[in-house]
Amino acid sequence: MKIVFANSAWVSAAERLVLRGGSWQSVRLRVRYGLIFHPTAGPVLVDTGYTHEALTGERRGRMLRLYGALLKPELNAAEQVLPVLKHFGLSPDDVRAVIVTHFHADHISGLSLFPRARFIASDAAWARVKARTPRQNLRHGVFTELFPADFETRLDGLSAKPRVEGLNGVPGGADLFGDGGVIAVDLPGHADGQFGLLFPRLERPLLYAVDVQWLLSALTGTRTPGFLATLIAEDAKAIEPTGAMLRRFLATRGEVMLCHDPELTAYDLPPNDARAE
Ligand SMILES: [Zn+2]
Repeated sequence: MKIVFANSAWVSAAERLVLRGGSWQSVRLRVRYGLIFHPTAGPVLVDTGYTHEALTGERRGRMLRLYGALLKPELNAAEQVLPVLKHFGLSPDDVRAVIVTHFHADHISGLSLFPRARFIASDAAWARVKARTPRQNLRHGVFTELFPADFETRLDGLSAKPRVEGLNGVPGGADLFGDGGVIAVDLPGHADGQFGLLFPRLERPLLYAVDVQWLLSALTGTRTPGFLATLIAEDAKAIEPTGAMLRRFLATRGEVMLCHDPELTAYDLPPNDARAE
């Protein structure tokens, strides 16, 4: 099973905001999304990264426009999801499943680009989105205009998936494709319903831990940034226990990847490799 990650955009932030004890110098964060070539499910996206829909789309509400103006993500044209799919000889219609790790804009921005995909996501978190007012959803960082109108009919909820054992300190989770190769693991703290993906069968097991932290060094060095973590976290108390679980996994030779860490990993597309022809 081939797994690649691409960088949809760059976002700059003062290091201090993403790393306790960090400097005021700006760090350039990636906004990754993944592409899994699954033997039976075919090409499966892991989130969509930022796309034009979140940053220039006509359907954006006032708050999403403000969010874009404040955060100023810089789209990476070469590694936007459509050019990357094209690089692998795929069209949007070839994508039959998108795993949606949580409902923040940089993860769901491009869902409407995939009209034939089912959405593998937390149905419990979706039920809470539906129960909230738009204003309450904004407080959870959820811009509902980014969901395709038929999101619910295409939702393939985690609660219906078989539960399987975890690995090396990582608790069990939902077996997404029934083969034990891709397991959704709850990662409480950052966002309502956030889950990561455990790939236990790889030679070196991998856990894609999404937005547990922005920087890997904040995780490995236990340097959770105080200010941002408490201001925007869904459940600030859960951040440290989730981090401790990931450190146990790392200590057993597991590999952890994050969405935003700037360092290139072995799973990232090499720079310039994904340019659209
Ligand atoms: Zn997030």
